[in-house]
Amino acid sequence: KFPCRLDKFISHLAEIPRTKAKAGIKRKFATVNGEVIRSFDYQVKPDDIVIFKDVQLTDLGKRYFMVNKPEDYVCANSDEMHPTVLELLNEPKLSELHIAGRLDIDTTGLVLITNDGDWSHRATSPKHQKFKTYLIETDAEITEQAITELEEGVMLNGENAPTLPAKVEKLARFSLKLSIQEGKYHQVKRMLAAVGNHVAALHREQVSRILLDSSLEPGQYRALTQDEIDSI
Ligand code: URA
Repeated sequence: KFPCRLDKFISHLAEIPRTKAKAGIKRKFATVNGEVIRSFDYQVKPDDIVIFKDVQLTDLGKRYFMVNKPEDYVCANSDEMHPTVLELLNEPKLSELHIAGRLDIDTTGLVLITNDGDWSHRATSPKHQKFKTYLIETDAEITEQAITELEEGVMLNGENAPTLPAKVEKLARFSLKLSIQEGKYHQVKRMLAAVGNHVAALHREQVSRILLDSSLEPGQYRALTQDEIDSI
């Protein structure tokens, strides 16, 4: 938040205690726009170039991205066996970012990534009931009975309450679009199992009002627009 005191700015971005930041400033380790600054309360402005101990400190602020997740990538911060979706982002300070709503390794499509914890909570928490829309290909033909059951709510193995009503649209004999408001573990796969079918392929195309950008090839990503950010 600008303007910001120099000692606070350094302490925050260099991730050191305020006392250390002050000591460094005193010892002439801080420059702003090329000039040594020795006052702790120098007011840092958005365009100032602050260098502390030879490292430029940049406040990246809140960041929001969508990725078109390919198969075989995991939604985790690190994994020994598989690449992670975070590795698809060519961005600084990746470790500050987290995934807002995971997909299984074999699921493709829309994954949201941010450093804004409140925002990702709104996007994913069951309390906020945001619709997530999936395209599903099934092994068996989709029956009218199955559609009705999915719309009304089904009992998943190991749960003690049925799923919330879902929106279902049959697209072809073996494919459907399903919108759900919850995000239980493997929910879509378990819902299809509960109606005697099996998911052959799963793709997320929408979270709330954010649609996967059709110009993104699998593995590509882009920043969210302000409208998309504000829609959550
Ligand atoms: N439901 C699933 O079963 N898997 C996903 O990846 C997302 C929703």
